[in-house]
Amino acid sequence: MRKYNIGWGLTSLCNMHCSFCYSHETREKTNDISISDWIRFVDENHEQIDSINYGTGENAVIDDFFCFIEYVRDNYPTIAQSVTTNGYISQRITDSPELKRIFLKSIDEVDVSLDFADREKHCSFRGQKSAYDWALQTLSILKNTGKKATIVFVGFEDTIKKDNIDGLFKIAETYDAILRLNIYRPVSENKEINKRFILKYDSLVEALEYINKKYQVLGLSDVLIGNLFSNDANIKENTGIGSIRILPDGKICPSTYLISDKYSNQYSIKEKNILSRINFEDFEGATIPKECAGCEIVFKCRGGVFDRRILWYGTLAERDPYCPKRYGFPLPERKFSIPEHGRISVHDDYLPTLFFGNKGKLE
Ligand code: SF4
Repeated sequence: MRKYNIGWGLTSLCNMHCSFCYSHETREKTNDISISDWIRFVDENHEQIDSINYGTGENAVIDDFFCFIEYVRDNYPTIAQSVTTNGYISQRITDSPELKRIFLKSIDEVDVSLDFADREKHCSFRGQKSAYDWALQTLSILKNTGKKATIVFVGFEDTIKKDNIDGLFKIAETYDAILRLNIYRPVSENKEINKRFILKYDSLVEALEYINKKYQVLGLSDVLIGNLFSNDANIKENTGIGSIRILPDGKICPSTYLISDKYSNQYSIKEKNILSRINFEDFEGATIPKECAGCEIVFKCRGGVFDRRILWYGTLAERDPYCPKRYGFPLPERKFSIPEHGRISVHDDYLPTLFFGNKGKLE
């Protein structure tokens, strides 16, 4: 029986206004379903759920989020639960000892969104004057709780400048957290926004090499980047295969980034025993792009990350936009030294993402 790592946006509400937001356009159109639907879905499908990460909107704005995570913990304790927060969760649990009790009991791991080490830049980027303080407050609460804490930042030209990278690593060191980089995806219907945030190939490689030299690459859970920079990455594309997303209206998509009608209209958690019937056919047997023939890592990389190929070119017949061969470069010669590790986080193998830490973090 296949087990899924689920990303779930319980609510379309959010208290910030991030200019790059992946779900802003979709969230505006949806009708959220209710906690009784969430509970029925988990009751019916729990045997096929390995982990749930709550993200998309800011789940902590609704009280039902806390009721639900406690229900899952009490009834299905083997399901790992994590949350991606813009930091506001710290305000909720600071204001309410009861919510804090539920949070500490039910959530195993927390991702805190922090794109800029500079307070003004982060608050302005997130459209919320308390964004920076809430993020640091969350990290501060997590320190010494034994829960995994990760700073997650969106990768675009401004965030991967060296001084910002250094600043984020310093914050991670202070709070005993690791870092996770999600390369920006062009999901907006507004082409200007997409153009503004798309990260260039050269900038990505330069940032990765800088991090590898000065800090520690902990894991590259990205089928292209992992296999480019490691000989034994052992990474497969899991989008729509072992990893799915649930939107606030209950629709199920193959990826956080593939949430248009085309990908969200096939399945819904309102359908009975839905996880036993899901099959995102495009992804299960995806063929390798013709241009990849003869590439040294073709049977590992297989053309790269599914969502990037679709978002950039509209088809899996194209290879990854970060494939060096697109730009006439050979594959990188230098491989990173990545410490042996198990599953670094719920997000490892759940979406294409990159993990870093200060030196000695996993030693
Ligand atoms: S040519 Fe294809 S298989 Fe080789 S690195 Fe590029 S995308 Fe991957």
